[in-house]
Amino acid sequence: MSALALNGGEAELARWGGLPHWPRVREGDEEALLGVLRSGNWGSTAGDQVARFQQEFAAYQGADEGIALVNGTLAIVAALRACGVGLGDEVIVPPYTFIATAAAPLLVGAVPVFADVDPDSHLMDPEAVRSVITPRTRAIIPVHLGGRAADMDTFRQIAAEHDLRVIEDCAQAVGARYKGAGVGTLGDVGTFSFQSSKNMSAGEGGAVVANSSSMGERLYSLINVGRVRGGGWYEHRNLGYNLRMTEFQGALLRRQLHHHPGDQEVRERNALILDEELRGVDGLYLSAPDPNLTSHGRHLYLMRVPELGRKGLRDTAVDALKAEGVEASTGYVPLHRNRAILDGTRALAKSLGQELPASHCPMAELVSRDTMWLPQQALLGDDELTHAIARAVRKVVGAAAELDAIAK
Ligand SMILES: *Cc1c(COP(=O)(O)O)cnc(C)c1O
Repeated sequence: MSALALNGGEAELARWGGLPHWPRVREGDEEALLGVLRSGNWGSTAGDQVARFQQEFAAYQGADEGIALVNGTLAIVAALRACGVGLGDEVIVPPYTFIATAAAPLLVGAVPVFADVDPDSHLMDPEAVRSVITPRTRAIIPVHLGGRAADMDTFRQIAAEHDLRVIEDCAQAVGARYKGAGVGTLGDVGTFSFQSSKNMSAGEGGAVVANSSSMGERLYSLINVGRVRGGGWYEHRNLGYNLRMTEFQGALLRRQLHHHPGDQEVRERNALILDEELRGVDGLYLSAPDPNLTSHGRHLYLMRVPELGRKGLRDTAVDALKAEGVEASTGYVPLHRNRAILDGTRALAKSLGQELPASHCPMAELVSRDTMWLPQQALLGDDELTHAIARAVRKVVGAAAELDAIAK
């Protein structure tokens, strides 16, 4: 095998200069943005772009209600509030996810309680959820990490048994389907993000989808300073935020939605090429496919390197991949170890006179040491580039001794 680029060898992606760029500017994008600019209707209270986008997006996911808003973090905050979650309630979240999933409960005065993940899928483990339910539990937030749907049948059953609300964090899973149904339609409400790295993006942005019209009404009011649909401009019946998206974002997201199916086809095809090239490679572990996942959202390409992880070489492996031109990531630090979440939870529990919930999440700690992932744009190249990525991964994973020498 050739020398690692980190050791002066030739980078596998030298010819391409790295991964494909994201986001992509495509025909029609400029016209869409200029159309908004020239119309003078820059806010959604005047124009129709956001209104049309949220309708089209809800239809895409198969939901009756869609509300576009500023970002995915505040989408979870709004969803929690629309579900009636507030001061002193407990919300069960996975520790292996983006911080917003656990920060959002704290931002509404609720306590995030961590349920460990399944190390095979990186997704929240239903049995772990059962083990942390208390009389104060009000909601659970399964995260469809990397575009892979969580075990929604079981989560819905647990929720029914304990009268809990289910908020799906679909930030990484636009277009993902579980048993044929779009994610976000399986729980009470589903939240999305259109931040720069996501598979559909307007730089920033978010959405909440739901199937009940009363949920839609509550969400509308929450993001529109307490106004109600059909009500007067100064008729603020509820306490709400202004979380409205701009028309520029709405127009761009309509274009992004238009391109999403085609982009997903490319990501899917390339992910299958990587699976074929990498499954069974010594030292590398890919999760088993899930037959319930009828359409993968393909946001992250997750890989575990258990031996490199055990030897403390995962970070060096990611550096080596970067040197090959593959902008891989070392992934999340588990949130039950995050200082801000811990301090926030401790302060809240203290002010409520509640006991601090214990977090026992050994699997999240394990996978956080031995996981590396590729971002979605790694799946947007042609066959040749995808094969070069696979070569880079094989080269790095097969170079434990070299990585060890570099780390020392
Ligand atoms: C990106 C992301 C969010 C937050 O979305 P923002 O738009 O960045 O606020 C929430 N949850 C998950 C799992 C994410 O990946």
